[in-house]
Amino acid sequence: MSAAQIDALAATVGDLRSLLGSDARALALRRALMEGSLGALPAKVPGVSESVLGPLRGSLVLPSVRISSMLEAEDGTTKWALEFGDGQSAETVLIPSRTRATVCVSSQSGCTRSCAFCATATLGFRRHLTAGEIVHQYLVARDAAAQAGLEASNVVFMGMGEPLDNLDAVLLAARSLTDVFPGLSPRRVTVSTSGVVPRMARFLRESRASLALSLNASDDATRTKIMPHNRTWPLASIVKVLREASSERPRRYFVEYVQLPGVNDTAEDAARIAELLRGLDVHVNVIPHNPFPGSPFRAPAREDTLRFHDQVKAQGLTGIIRWPRGRDVSGACGQLALRA
Ligand code: SF4
Repeated sequence: MSAAQIDALAATVGDLRSLLGSDARALALRRALMEGSLGALPAKVPGVSESVLGPLRGSLVLPSVRISSMLEAEDGTTKWALEFGDGQSAETVLIPSRTRATVCVSSQSGCTRSCAFCATATLGFRRHLTAGEIVHQYLVARDAAAQAGLEASNVVFMGMGEPLDNLDAVLLAARSLTDVFPGLSPRRVTVSTSGVVPRMARFLRESRASLALSLNASDDATRTKIMPHNRTWPLASIVKVLREASSERPRRYFVEYVQLPGVNDTAEDAARIAELLRGLDVHVNVIPHNPFPGSPFRAPAREDTLRFHDQVKAQGLTGIIRWPRGRDVSGACGQLALRA
């Protein structure tokens, strides 16, 4: 995108106001972009005359996106593979519940990191997604949720990619998602990180969205084996950033813990997790590992997950078990690898 071009889906009402010269016109265009047909600037925007919009048409860029596949799991989870104009792809998942739906978006095609328990890592890094490409994913899933009578009220940046390695675009996308349309609550937008320490502080300073830490081990030796970048940013450095941000403004963090049986799921692990996070307001979610072809780890037995979750709770930590959703279409956590 050249300097003169504007990522239309990332532009908030405030951004559009400076282009269109009035709040009313900015609101009208933002609504048309968020609620109109995907991928095209509307032929007409009620309330914005063509004499104002016409000269901008060449500058407002919408992502070029094609749905290359859509798979629906038995539990109602839907996974899309989206292909962008340059041929790169990423996956988006819609996870419905009884009353609302959560959209899991990707921030990169492939991933810059190499977590051993994650299918996306097997793809390598292809490219960062633009903010508009991230927002577009939400709109695709939101429209499908609406057809099922559900509001897509939650967004998690837990699809393909390490969001903080693409921080500029992720900040813009989160800002756009929480703008007046579609108007998601910042509390319902969660950005996950595998612990990219230098960018965590900036995210916490600049975004109103929630942060989730993908922890997955209670000691550095184990974490470095399954998340090699832990060598650069060990556990103490990650927790230090969380503590500093909490001392500036009280906040709650989500902590995601992929349970790898026999690797990171003993009572001692639970005790070390509690010690590491002591004093922080955290919500620890245990995620049974979702295997994929070639995965070096197996899925834990249900009773092992219940046992480990009890051990975590016994340490005074709150949180839930995130049971797999969409496993039969490789749409569960850690399974996104563009496999049909
Ligand atoms: S877990 Fe996240 S950061 Fe790690 S390889 Fe997978 S997508 Fe990348």
